[in-house]
Amino acid sequence: MLFIKIYILIIHSLIMTYEQLLDEAYKKVKQVDTSSSRFEIPKIQGHFQGKKTILTNFSQIVSQIRRNPEHFQKFLLRELAAAGQREGDRLVLNKKVSSKKINPKIEQYVKEFVLCKACGKPDTEIKKEGRLTFLHCLACGAKHSVRGKI
Ligand SMILES: [Zn+2]
Repeated sequence: MLFIKIYILIIHSLIMTYEQLLDEAYKKVKQVDTSSSRFEIPKIQGHFQGKKTILTNFSQIVSQIRRNPEHFQKFLLRELAAAGQREGDRLVLNKKVSSKKINPKIEQYVKEFVLCKACGKPDTEIKKEGRLTFLHCLACGAKHSVRGKI
């Protein structure tokens, strides 16, 4: 009887450790997953040229946030109260605007039109349904309405 009890104890402790190991492994996988998929809001790069501001990484940001360049451009120009046009991969503003003013606008755009309001991931797309515009999340399936006009 004593042997059986010891045997059961050993088995039990083995199972416990195994479960704990699985738990640990799971925690590690989760940690790696969240850190690798963490999305960073892109920052503007550019310089002044006379009275103009040349935003050199405009196209790069567009591909990072995977949004329509016209939509993003329209938002930026309106928010910065600037006129501007694209020249290749660049966006040229017809006045001097410091990056300190531009970066918060990019952040605002990303929060409103890129990041899922439910899970916070950037794997989203903008969809129009009739008169309404939605931000549809491909990661969790959530759908939130966003303003159609900017
Ligand atoms: Zn989501």
